[in-house]
Amino acid sequence: MLWSGWGDPAEAVELPEAVRSLLRDLLGVRAPRTPAVGLEEVRPPAVALAPSVLDALRAVVGAGHVRSDDESRVRHTRGKSTPDLIRLRAGDASLAPDAVVLPGSHEEVLGVLRVCAEHRVAVVPFGGGTSVVGGLSAERDGFAGVVALDVGRLDRLVSLDAESMVAEFGPGLRAPVAERLLAEHGLTLGHFPQSFEYATLGGFAAARSSGQASAGYGRFDDMVVGMTVATPRGTLDLGRAPRSAAGPDLRQVMLGSEGAFGVITSLRLRVRRSPAERHYEGWRFASFPEGAAALRRLAQDGPLPTVLRLSDETETMIGLAKPGEIGELAAGAGCLVVAGYEGDPLEVAETRERAAAVLSGLGGTCLGVEPGQAWARGRYAAPYLRDALLAEGATVETLETAGFWSGLPGLYDAVRGALTASLGSPLVMCHISHVYGTGASLYFTVVTAQEEDPVAQWERAKRAASAAILAAGGTISHHHGVGRDHREAYAVEIGELGAEILRGIKERLDPEGILNPGALIP
Ligand SMILES: Cc1cc2nc3c(=O)[nH]c(=O)nc-3n(C[C@H](O)[C@H](O)[C@H](O)COP(=O)(O)OP(=O)(O)OC[C@H]3O[C@@H](n4cnc5c(N)ncnc54)[C@H](O)[C@@H]3O)c2cc1C
Repeated sequence: MLWSGWGDPAEAVELPEAVRSLLRDLLGVRAPRTPAVGLEEVRPPAVALAPSVLDALRAVVGAGHVRSDDESRVRHTRGKSTPDLIRLRAGDASLAPDAVVLPGSHEEVLGVLRVCAEHRVAVVPFGGGTSVVGGLSAERDGFAGVVALDVGRLDRLVSLDAESMVAEFGPGLRAPVAERLLAEHGLTLGHFPQSFEYATLGGFAAARSSGQASAGYGRFDDMVVGMTVATPRGTLDLGRAPRSAAGPDLRQVMLGSEGAFGVITSLRLRVRRSPAERHYEGWRFASFPEGAAALRRLAQDGPLPTVLRLSDETETMIGLAKPGEIGELAAGAGCLVVAGYEGDPLEVAETRERAAAVLSGLGGTCLGVEPGQAWARGRYAAPYLRDALLAEGATVETLETAGFWSGLPGLYDAVRGALTASLGSPLVMCHISHVYGTGASLYFTVVTAQEEDPVAQWERAKRAASAAILAAGGTISHHHGVGRDHREAYAVEIGELGAEILRGIKERLDPEGILNPGALIP
């Protein structure tokens, strides 16, 4: 993973000239003043941890699994939000952990937590490092130091119960590896977020992730049937039946806990049979409200495709749903729907036919397979574009929310309005990518020319958008989580009593407050 950007550096993209001129002419983007620094130039602060603490950690996980070299520390600094990348590109590694610790078992995780609680060392659980909400930058005040607890060595398919269709995994397994291991048994998780290539299963559970095929396979939290969690107070083993009436479901407390309550050391996940056929196609609607009405009908009355997304007019015109063709402006193109069907061929044909009748009955025009296939080909490409845009002097960032269908138009207008008022004349694009019977998520992509201080510029816009989301009745996050960036808005969303409950749980499980300080808990 590129330390200050996204993905495999060999896959870096050049911006097409069409995009460059769009940035210049439409947004007034000018080249940034300072080019990105090289990894070898970045100097994290001196290691604050006492040698005796490092020795105690080595005694738990083995000397080779405690790393305090500059590169390991820099690679575990922050996540992958645009402000994270802007700071890293400028060589700011001030939030680097003092050490990276890689435990090899649940017992070793418990041992690391014991040592850290004893010496008041903050612990940041670290999966794929793709958090976009400031989930990985611990507050150091009052602590003897910070360690990143990287779960990368807990990366096995532990067992497979093919009869129950349940697989047990280590949390450090990256999504493509998990898919490869399941494919050997003709199985899949069906979880394909845009961060698929680098994010881990533990991170998906800890941040309540949702993938691009959520209409068919569900959100990640729907897939978790059980988990083991190491906390400073001991072990929690949760989930012994598919459904239970035995009191409140404590799995729900751990899902979305973002490393603040414990470290997930094992996950038992529902798996599905790999589809024999995948068919993706495009539809055109004249307007976003018309497209949204069609998605709502499918979500409420069926049949539901496996993938279902709708781009608004601006996103369709720019071609963001098809990164390979981005910049070739398609004015008057209306709004693109991508509908994907996965399953056995008969099921795919039947669902497609019924969904097509609904879509065309509500004003849609079928564009055939090409737009669907272009989306499927480019589905992991957009994050690479972000690096190229940053290098050009543009800020590009995303934010997301969800709301009930009746409130969705107001939510859409409120967020767009807030971003535009805050940034002047940015490009604001939006799509619906996760639908439910009762509502849907809205995912915004914003592009703007960088001001002198692009981080302050984005923070101002983000504050305005967050306030607009809350005022319009949306949730501060549908799938990115809370981290540090959304903590204040989350406090408003759940109210003081809700915040007290979270603080109470935190105090019980983590009395020294060492786990991911500053994240999640208001
Ligand atoms: C380009 C890009 C595209 C993205 N697309 C999507 C998308 O389509 N859908 C989506 O849902 N999200 C998306 N995200 C957000 C991100 O990928 C998810 O939040 C993902 O769940 C994080 O997984 P990770 O393994 O990288 O976790 P990390 O970023 O390492 O950690 C995330 C949080 O979980 C905690 N954590 C990690 N592992 C554990 C563990 N084992 N136990 C306890 N706590 C733990 C961390 O402390 C942190 O607070 C995207 C991010 C990027 C950069």
